[in-house]
Amino acid sequence: MPRNRNFSLLDPRKLATATAQALIPFGGPILRRHFDNFDALQTELPLWEPLSPRSRIFVLSPHPDDESLGAGGLIFRARKRGFEVQIGFLSNGDGSRTTQISQVMRRKNEKSLPDIARLRQTEALRAAQILGVEEANVLFFGFPDGGARALWDGDYSGQASFVSPFTGYGSVEYERAFAPHSPYCRAALIENLALAFEAFEPTLVLTTHPRDTHLDHVVAYRACEAAIASLATTRKPDLRAFLIHCGIWPVPNGLHPELPLMPPAHLLGGGTKWFFLPLSEEEIAAKRAALECHQTQFGSTPRYLHAFVRRNEIFGEIE
Ligand SMILES: [Zn+2]
Repeated sequence: MPRNRNFSLLDPRKLATATAQALIPFGGPILRRHFDNFDALQTELPLWEPLSPRSRIFVLSPHPDDESLGAGGLIFRARKRGFEVQIGFLSNGDGSRTTQISQVMRRKNEKSLPDIARLRQTEALRAAQILGVEEANVLFFGFPDGGARALWDGDYSGQASFVSPFTGYGSVEYERAFAPHSPYCRAALIENLALAFEAFEPTLVLTTHPRDTHLDHVVAYRACEAAIASLATTRKPDLRAFLIHCGIWPVPNGLHPELPLMPPAHLLGGGTKWFFLPLSEEEIAAKRAALECHQTQFGSTPRYLHAFVRRNEIFGEIE
C-alpha cells in the first residue's frame, strides 16, 4: 500500500505531544493552572498499599512499554520485596503504520515486520529484567497491534479470524508466543488470558484503563475482565487499571520526577476510584531505566514517555 506521510499524526502519542506543544504559547497560563492543581488533588486520592503477604501480580501490557509507563515502579517494588510478578504483552507493537517504530525502522533499512516484533520483544525483556522480572515470567500473547478492537467487536469464531492489515496474520505466528497459532478472535484472546491466570494464580491483575483513548488499551481491560469472570476459582484476582493515552495528559511533557502524576480532571468525577502510589527514588530510577529500554519508542516522542516518570503512579478501581 502507498505510504501516507501524514498518517503518523493520527498516532495518539504524536497527537498529544503536538497538541501540548501547540497550546503552550497560547494556553500556557491555563496549562499552568491545571498543573498547579495537581498538588491539591493529591491529598484527595487515597494512598494504595497493593502488596500483602500472598500477593502475586499479573500485568497485561497492550504493547511493549505500557508496563513500564503505567506500573514500572510497582513492578520493581514487588520484585524487590520478593513477590512474584508476571508480565504479559497483548501485542508485539508491530503495527507498521500506527506506531513510531515504523518511522524509525523505515529510516533504518526497511526492517521487516517480524524483525520489528523481535526487536520490541527484546526491548520488553530488557525492561522486565531491570524491573526484576525474569524471562520465564514474560509472556508474549502475539495478538494484533492496532487490531484488538476489530478482533474484539468482530464476528470471528476462530474459523474466520480477524486478519491484521499490518502483518497479514490471522493467528499468532511469532517465534516467541504464549500459544502459537491461536486464531485472532475474542474467544481465543480470553482463553489465552484465562490459561495464563490459571497457571500463575495472580491475586492482582493490572492493565490499561477502559477509558484510555487507545482502543487496544480498552480491549486489554475488557479481556482481563472477561478472563477473570471465566475462571472457575472462587478466589478471583482484583483488577486495577493504569492510564496511558488520554488527550494531552500527562501535563507537562518531559522528565519531571519531582512532580506528582494525577488523573485527568474529567476522569476524577466518577466511574473510577483512583489510588495514589508514592514511589521511592530507587523505584523512580528503575522505572525510568526500564522505560528507556524501549528505544524504538524514544525515537519520536521522548518527552511524552518521560512524562510518566513521576514521584508516584496512579491506579484505578473501575466501579
Ligand atoms: Zn500501548
